[in-house]
This record gives sequence, structure tokens and C-alpha cells, in this order.
Amino acid sequence: MNRPFSPIMHDYKQTALKQSKKFKAFQWFTVGLGIPIIIVFFINILNKPADNKEIPEKFLYETKQNVPQNHSVIDRASENYQLETSITEPEPAYEFIELKISQGDTLEQLFRQNNLDVGQLMLITELDKAKNQFRRIKPGNVIKLTHLNGQVISLRSKIDLTSELVIEKKESEFEARIIEHPITKKKRMAYGIITSSLFESAVAAGLSDKIIMNIAAIFAWDIDFVLDIRQGDSYYLHFEEIWQDGKYISDGEIIAAEFNNNGRTLQAIRFVGDDGYINYFTPEGDSLRKAFIRAPVDFTRISSNFNPNRKHPILNTIRAHRGVDYAAPKGTPIKASGDGKVIFRGTKSGYGKTIIIQHGGNITTLYAHMSSYIKKIKIGTKVRQGETIGFVGSTGLATASHLHYEYRINGIHRNPRTVNLPDAKPIDEKYRMEFFTYAGPIIDELKQFKNMHSAKVAFSN
Ligand SMILES: [Zn+2]
Repeated sequence: MNRPFSPIMHDYKQTALKQSKKFKAFQWFTVGLGIPIIIVFFINILNKPADNKEIPEKFLYETKQNVPQNHSVIDRASENYQLETSITEPEPAYEFIELKISQGDTLEQLFRQNNLDVGQLMLITELDKAKNQFRRIKPGNVIKLTHLNGQVISLRSKIDLTSELVIEKKESEFEARIIEHPITKKKRMAYGIITSSLFESAVAAGLSDKIIMNIAAIFAWDIDFVLDIRQGDSYYLHFEEIWQDGKYISDGEIIAAEFNNNGRTLQAIRFVGDDGYINYFTPEGDSLRKAFIRAPVDFTRISSNFNPNRKHPILNTIRAHRGVDYAAPKGTPIKASGDGKVIFRGTKSGYGKTIIIQHGGNITTLYAHMSSYIKKIKIGTKVRQGETIGFVGSTGLATASHLHYEYRINGIHRNPRTVNLPDAKPIDEKYRMEFFTYAGPIIDELKQFKNMHSAKVAFSN
């Protein structure tokens, strides 16, 4: 702080210096008493056993909320380290080996190769709980084993994602039991602000590629992630992390998300009905799905999908330009923007290799300058929204590799970036009330999180 010298402070200091001798003696007395107390206090703290067996949920939640942070991976690693050190290690005299099953391996072979007692293997595979597990050993299975001079002491093998078979030598017999490792979901809140690209913002926020792909998938009908993204766009998320045995396993589902794009705010809440009905809806209960996605090209393959200093380049100038161009490297997958039927596939003069799809509502979409088509796509082939139909190229009158995309209603060109897209069905009537009851608090929480963090951002600017 560059606070200027204030005469008031100066006055205060001067008066403070006028201290009586009696007061100074008292000060020395307190120092003399205080130092030993402090030392004793610290010795106590150091002797206290470190309670690091479990990290309280609250702590995890708070550290995770503190996004963007570039060190989330490191944080996670140190948490795991703390947890691992609390696990008791086998007696030092025992040897530990991991048997990795490869194609064609039998347990007997592996036991022999590692000089383990094959007779014991027979006893182990006879155990009721172990029979099934060892009858169907698969390549990639791992058996963790401790032994003493080839005599098995204990053995562990994962049955599935959440259960593990544990076999231990007890006196002369082996005992088998199954340990459960339940999966837990942790809530995580995060936000990102776009300065150069969606992916960079995600890295800065400590978010995985999976999460960023899911954000793009949720808003694919409203946002063209190739051309619409602007500097200053932001997003706020509530998602799940999958944890097991105190360790982070992977990211789970996005529960709610808000995307602020070029002055508009889009919100999505995931809803799961008891009959397996799953979709993302706006807080008003409208589906985010629409008959067409905005960008029919795989944006993840487009390296610099946003440059704040440059307008989108118009590469192609065949007659009056009546479509949208996506500059993309040759070979980038092109996706059908909606469900429909292929009505043209072939070379079309300046368009080069082209596919036209007929959709409902007298809408057609056209994809030009392709380098190649997906083999099974022919005239009459039915395609689903998002299905890859071919690859970006520069066939026809194209100066550089790009996708030229057109959207026509009754044969008339419309701007695919701004045209009103036919909406998909809103939330099922039978779930309507349930959805609003569920979505209200979730949206409120996301709003609070946003308010907290957008205030912080404004302050730090
Ligand atoms: Zn074009």
C-alpha cells in the first residue's frame, strides 16, 4: 500500500513512545512468561498425532470452489498422498508382487513363473467366494499378492468397479471375503472466463477436457462454438466428481450450467426422470435440444477457434456468399446438423464434393468443399443429428481448407447462425412440477456462486 505519511500517525507514535519505567518492567515480565508458554504450546501441537485419515468434505468442497486455480491437479495429488501414507504397509519381510494377466495366461503359469506355491493356488481357487473370480480371469486383470518365500500371505483382486476379492492366510487355511469400495459423488462448482479459447479457459479453471466437451454438447443448439465465442464470455458450472476410497476417479455429470455468450445468458439443468428420461432444460422447462445444432463441424479439431483481434475470415467467394464458412484443417469431421435424409452426394461445380440433407419442415442443409464422404453415406441414407457425414477439404472453388455450410427453408437461404431453429419438445408434462421443484434451488445456488465470483472478478480487474 502506498499510503502517504500522515501527520496524525506521526503524533500517535510520539505519544506512544512516552512509556513509564514501571510499564516497561511489566512488559519484560510478560515476555519472560510468554515465551515459555508459546514453546510449550508448540511442543503440544507437534506431539499431537496428525489427523489426516480423512479430509473433511467441507475442506474439499471449499478448495474446489476456489476456481479458477491452476494447481487443482497438484492439490489432488497431495490429498491422495496424505491418504496413502495412512494405509498400513505389509510387514517388511513379505514380498509384494502384481500379477498382470495377459492374453492366454493361466494363473498356474503365473504362479510357476513367480516361484509361488501352486498347491496353495489350488486351495485358493477352491474357495467359494474366489471360484467365480478366478474362473473368468481376463487379460488386463491384476492380482496383488504378498508372499513369504513363495508362500501366499494375502491376495487381492478387483471384481468390478466397486468390489474387491481379498484372500488372507489364517493359520493353515485361506479365508476369502469381498470388500466394497463404494463410489461417492462430490459436488463441485467452477467457472471460467474466455480470454482466448474455450479450451484455454478450461485449463485455467482446472477443468478436464471431458467437462468442456460436455458444456459444448449441452449448448450445441444455441451456441456455435466455432464462430460465436467471444473474449469475455464466461460460464458457471455445477458438476459432479466421482470419488472412491478417498481418491478422485473422474468427472461425472454436469448438473447445471450457465453460459454467458456475447451478451446473452443461457442456462441448463440436467433432469433425470424415474423412467430413465434424461435431458437438459432451461429454468423454464424448455429443452435445449433443437432440430439443428449451430456448428456442423467438430470444433475441438479447430486449433485457434477464436481470435479476439480478427474477424472471421471469409475464405470463399463463389458468387454471392450464402452460407457460413468454417476454416478448419483438412480431415476435420463434418456433422449432420439435424436428422434427415441425404438427397445429394457428389461433385457440384464450384462447391466441389457436396452433401445435401433433406430435413423436416422443408429445410435442407448443404455441406461443400469436402475432402471425402463417409463411405456408407449415399443418396437416400438416413442420418442422425451429430453423425459424421464426411471431412473438411478444399475441393471445388476454395482457396483454403474449410467447410461451406448452407441452410435453406423452402429453397431460400437463411443465415444458419441466426435463423430461429424449430424447438424440440419441452419437459414432459408429467415431470413438469417435479422439474420446477428440483431446478429452482439448483439455479439459485448457481446464481449465488456466479454473484460471488463475478464480483471477485470485477474487483481484481
Ligand atoms: Zn462459403
